[in-house]
Amino acid sequence: STPLLDVKDLGVEYRSGWRSSPTKAVDDVSLTVGHGEIVGLVGESGSGKSTVGRAILGLMAAARGTIHLGGQDITRQRAAERRDLPTGLQVVFQDPYASLNPARTIGRTLSEPLEVHGKLSAADARTQIEELLTRVGLPADAIDRYPSAFSGGQRQRIAIARAISTDPALVICDEPTSALDVITQARMLDLMSDLSRERGTAMLFIAHNLAVVAAIAQRVVVLYRGRVMETGTTQDVLCRPLHPYTQALIASSPVADPLRQRKRRAARQQADPVAGSEGTGTTPEGCPFAPRCPHATSTCRIQRPAVTLVDGRSVACHLFTADTPTPEGATA
Ligand code: SF4
Ligand code: MG
Repeated sequence: STPLLDVKDLGVEYRSGWRSSPTKAVDDVSLTVGHGEIVGLVGESGSGKSTVGRAILGLMAAARGTIHLGGQDITRQRAAERRDLPTGLQVVFQDPYASLNPARTIGRTLSEPLEVHGKLSAADARTQIEELLTRVGLPADAIDRYPSAFSGGQRQRIAIARAISTDPALVICDEPTSALDVITQARMLDLMSDLSRERGTAMLFIAHNLAVVAAIAQRVVVLYRGRVMETGTTQDVLCRPLHPYTQALIASSPVADPLRQRKRRAARQQADPVAGSEGTGTTPEGCPFAPRCPHATSTCRIQRPAVTLVDGRSVACHLFTADTPTPEGATA
């Protein structure tokens, strides 16, 4: 069946100055999100993951490629049009302090999207908002208070309530829990996956933290320097990463074990998208991970690896070709 969100060969560019040539922030990114599915989009800072989210929301223009939502081509639609689609698109941003208007009561902030989508009397809207606030774990009387009365975690609950209030088919979540402490973060992830299940809301969950994605997503897309490295079920990608970059990313993820922490420090340097990026001799055609990849060959530096289907997932790496079995040493 047709996926709810279908991003194909997306390219996004930006210029740092009017004279500079454009930099590719996102290059040839393809991904899908099914109806009701939660897909994690993972990458280090600078990988282009937020840019993908912003392009889907219409906050940045696509230089190349297409974006379909509910079968409809939305590539050229403005952000406001995308929000107001019957298949609606909503967003939860990272910063709980910047995302709510401090001069508006929670009730006013939450009634706005409901009014845009129309059809509700003021009394019905109020009842619905109170129910929503209760559902996300806030007291119903929060409705008449201002954002300053709430903690960061509570504000993110309010932002989530706002995002789901119109029953959107898809919510783009850009690191919605990364500003929160670990316990609040875990509760928020529980809430979001419960809401997704109850309402059939699909989510594209953007995060730099693999543990966060593992807790919530059914599928994972791994991004590095604006390109998709690996895509697969969360279980496959986290337990048996195929792409050398995914392996480095997992090895550098926080773990409790102090012995592994030393290895992690070394792996983090390897996975770092920015460090050592200058003068590495990679051409734009090559694999972006080649400068730090332990398996890199001369081919990797000049030839861009094609996306290949391996064991039910896709991998962009020269170690994998469509019909060859997983090579020795590629799965650490
Ligand atoms: Fe490493 Fe080459 Fe695969 Fe890139 S294509 S990840 S450099 S083996
Ligand atoms: Mg970001």
